[in-house]
Amino acid sequence: MRHVIALDVGGTGMKAALVGADTALSGGTPPRPPVLLHRARRATGRERGPDAVVETILGFAAELRAYGAEHYGEPAAAAGLAVPGIVDEEHGIAVYAANLGWRDVPLRALLADRLGVPVALGHDVRTGGLAEGRIGAGKGADRFLFVPLGTGIAGAIGVDGRVEAGAHGFAGEIGHVVVRPGGTPCPCGQHGCLERYASASAVSEAWAAACGDPEADAADCAKAVASGDPNAVRVWQEAVDALADGLVTALTLLDPRTLIIGGGLAEAGEVLFQPLRDAVRRRVTFQKLPSIVPAALGDTAGCLGAGLLARDLLNHTDPTEVTP
Ligand SMILES: [Zn+2]
Repeated sequence: MRHVIALDVGGTGMKAALVGADTALSGGTPPRPPVLLHRARRATGRERGPDAVVETILGFAAELRAYGAEHYGEPAAAAGLAVPGIVDEEHGIAVYAANLGWRDVPLRALLADRLGVPVALGHDVRTGGLAEGRIGAGKGADRFLFVPLGTGIAGAIGVDGRVEAGAHGFAGEIGHVVVRPGGTPCPCGQHGCLERYASASAVSEAWAAACGDPEADAADCAKAVASGDPNAVRVWQEAVDALADGLVTALTLLDPRTLIIGGGLAEAGEVLFQPLRDAVRRRVTFQKLPSIVPAALGDTAGCLGAGLLARDLLNHTDPTEVTP
């Protein structure tokens, strides 16, 4: 069975899958959603240094290739690889990742050499956004913005079935939009960046300080909000207000049809979405309100997106050229 390798490299773990590549693109049929044939995980092992991480990626992919050949009658026809940090997707280079310690690694060429098939390299959040936009919460939306609220905050700008990388691979960094000028310092060098206020880590920190329990995190804060704790409501609303300020800047610039919010903080569900929709609605004047929805694919988005990148290599067909 024709299939591709999908590999999503995170700071602590790697998620991989073999994804069916039968996309039935002839006769104007829209691409089928990817079928996951086989899934696997492995520790990233970043404490061993950047070279060892690269070797682990290459070895893991080669094992997946062997697994596919054995179980599906043929080896994978292409591979997609999603990595964190700054990624030059056009040239297939992992430019920089603070948490993995690498600089200018030609990952696409290295993996294509090892596997002997075409490889696509993507940025983890943009790749996850590609999956959310095409087959997840934004399915069918011609313009969307995907914003995962995790350790930090990033964004993926979806336009007509693809995700905008920018001229230098930096597009979508909404976490470093300044929402509180002169506010909390950010490792990026600015003060008052959105991710200092509305990431899951920032809310965890704020709630731990406010409730006096250093172990308390954002999920505990959401529970306390749901039970009506006024202290928690204050901490939560500060995060929601900062987030709404950042999102309104983004939607004023981009005019997305759908705003997909993911990551750890979005797991709070309506505890987040109800006040967030209200806060965004209060801020817009002339702008059109997008629908604000939770991400649908969870932590498999990056891996599914890597599979879509690989399938795109085989199809050479822009999904927007396919008329349903
Ligand atoms: Zn920043």
